[in-house]
Amino acid sequence: MKLVTFEADGPPHVGVLDGDVVADVTSADPTITGVLEAIIDGDDIMGRISELVSPATRIALCEVRLMAPIPRPRKNIAAVGRNYLDHAREFSDSGFDASEEQTVPDHPIIFTKAVTSVIGPRDAIDSGNDPTGTTDYEGELGVVIGREGIAISPDDAMDHVFGYTVINDVTARELQKRHVQWYIGKSPDTFCPMGPCVVTADDIPDIGAAWLHTRVNGELRQEAPISALIFDIPTLISTLSSVMTLEPGDIIATGTPVGVGIGLDPPIYLKAGDLVEVEIDGIGAIRNPVV
Ligand code: MG
Repeated sequence: MKLVTFEADGPPHVGVLDGDVVADVTSADPTITGVLEAIIDGDDIMGRISELVSPATRIALCEVRLMAPIPRPRKNIAAVGRNYLDHAREFSDSGFDASEEQTVPDHPIIFTKAVTSVIGPRDAIDSGNDPTGTTDYEGELGVVIGREGIAISPDDAMDHVFGYTVINDVTARELQKRHVQWYIGKSPDTFCPMGPCVVTADDIPDIGAAWLHTRVNGELRQEAPISALIFDIPTLISTLSSVMTLEPGDIIATGTPVGVGIGLDPPIYLKAGDLVEVEIDGIGAIRNPVV
């Protein structure tokens, strides 16, 4: 099931995406007020939502403005650096990693993005929020946690996954380098496009087989299978939860493959007028203009 959040008169509504149509779940049952709330409530509410898909009012997708499926996460988005081998190499070669000691890390590099950076799947990335003019894209799989846990073993980790989304980990490269810690370079407003939906994990039993594709102005820049992650989803969940409680609605951006703008020679940064698309098989595409 593909859960979406869309603008409505008043507070946003929860919908279920079915092809090119959105079933308006919140209109059918006003007690269903948000995707995050539904994830927190768990199986009962998810069962209720699936029952409402048929009877709910159906709206053409082109008629609604989608927001990020979780427009305001409860915590910063956890994100993983250098988690595809060829990207680790291109990043190392670029000289832009102020914290780098070795190309492929022994342990996952984990940083976060501010919740205020989240925007919807069609919203504009404001490159004016990066005063250094080094705005770059990173197409990534987002993993949404569904069940609370601490010290989750890799074997149990997938039981804690609610579903998946698409994230563009937009980055101000010069800020990433200048401030050593990546938080500021990863967190300008509008620098976390997300969506178009959260797909429940049961819809994609083998997420590793899905491919990620990033295009800038129609030109293919990144293409890799999720199975190429150096630290896979169970390892990331196990690592994070080894010391902190993971909670429903927590989001992990799993890392980006080779082909970012900083890896090109010379680097090519995003500029006003560009269109960045990140698509993952089985989830969908986010298409964000740059202003
Ligand atoms: Mg990234």
